[in-house]
Amino acid sequence: MNSMYFTEEHQLFRKSLQDFLKKEVVPHIEKWEETGSIDRFIWKKFGEMGYFGLAYPEEYGGLDLDLFYTVILLEELQKINSGGFAAAIWAHAYLSMTHVNKEGNHDIKQRYLTPSITGEKIGCLCITEPFGGSDVAGMRTTAVKQGDTYIINGSKTFITNGLYSDYLVVAAKTNPELGNKGMSIFIIDRDMPGVSATKLDKLGWRASDTGEIAFDNVVIPATNLIGEEGKGFPYIMQHFSLERLIMSINAHARAEYAIEYAIQYMSERKAFGKTLDKFQALRHSVADMASEMEMCKSFNYSVAKRLNDGQYVVKEATMAKLLSTKMADKVIYQCLQLLGGYGYIEDYPMARLLRDSRLGTIGGGTSEILREIIAKIVIDKKEYKSATN
Ligand SMILES: Cc1cc2nc3c(=O)[nH]c(=O)nc-3n(C[C@H](O)[C@H](O)[C@H](O)COP(=O)(O)OP(=O)(O)OC[C@H]3O[C@@H](n4cnc5c(N)ncnc54)[C@H](O)[C@@H]3O)c2cc1C
Repeated sequence: MNSMYFTEEHQLFRKSLQDFLKKEVVPHIEKWEETGSIDRFIWKKFGEMGYFGLAYPEEYGGLDLDLFYTVILLEELQKINSGGFAAAIWAHAYLSMTHVNKEGNHDIKQRYLTPSITGEKIGCLCITEPFGGSDVAGMRTTAVKQGDTYIINGSKTFITNGLYSDYLVVAAKTNPELGNKGMSIFIIDRDMPGVSATKLDKLGWRASDTGEIAFDNVVIPATNLIGEEGKGFPYIMQHFSLERLIMSINAHARAEYAIEYAIQYMSERKAFGKTLDKFQALRHSVADMASEMEMCKSFNYSVAKRLNDGQYVVKEATMAKLLSTKMADKVIYQCLQLLGGYGYIEDYPMARLLRDSRLGTIGGGTSEILREIIAKIVIDKKEYKSATN
């Protein structure tokens, strides 16, 4: 364990989290992967254990801990091998709740952050639209102010927790003529008239419920605007650093899990009279994979430290996601190969890992978009500035 970043308290937390996941989550994973939905009871259990409140203020029921507790939560969620379950948890705890915490006022936090920390209310973040996800500024959903309400019209797609979340954090245009300067963020309760959702079937992340959502003349109180009107785009960009770092950490953790599993398998499986871990070609393949995984992990930890210290890490988090998700895909593809035919069989972990990993280079900014951002920073010397400081 990396003692540069993790204290004894962190290690104790990791151990108790592992025990919790083994007892409360692992027995249900196969069912949730099959049904494509997670039972509600587990959210309350996560809430009772304080896992949703790790990074949030004590005033609202959180624990206000450093970011390395979150790193541990993310890593251990990957190691129970259900990218879908992990995604449901972190999309609630870090995508929707981050907006509520960072830009919400006291009233919003009391109404949404506190019950999100206890696991009584589940959230989702709705940015992507059917007409395009990469071009965030091009979104078409609108929010028109009328008296002390906003009227929302439009649609969103690929939304994690899109069907059973209790509230939706939604980006919409309040002033479409202003492009990305005319975007704002709202909280919409699931039970508001005019909100409907359809479940999407997908390659991986099968335990998570991914939905397409329509807003048909949904009237919400103006007090459900989060932060300032017109600042939605900078808020989204600001929080992308955390989302991208989360996806980088997920990637190194699932690659590490795949390598550990493959090494164990190789020590037991025999071919031509000796165990697989004695074949030089396979040993070198593991050596390459372990080196690349370790490089990504170390870099991801260093970015987490900088983010924890309050630095604006847009360049580093973008680079981390680009390389870590690519590394994880490559490692898991090769680990599946090391298991031979068993790699392809659902009773072994690699098939699901391969499916789940594939989303890494797509969600939260595709690799192509990340390269665009990095090119602007390193070639054009573009400087991205924090929206909220
Ligand atoms: C399972 C799942 C869960 C998700 N969860 C959420 C969620 O909770 N909330 C949410 O808001 N979104 C979510 N997403 C959406 C995800 O973030 C988008 O799919 C992603 O941002 C890409 O958008 P798109 O699918 O519309 O692709 P498009 O933008 O249509 O892109 C298609 C292809 O063109 C490429 N491309 C586009 N523009 C450029 C360019 N300028 N230069 C080079 N190449 C380019 C892309 O890289 C991609 O390869 C989720 C997606 C999935 C599949």
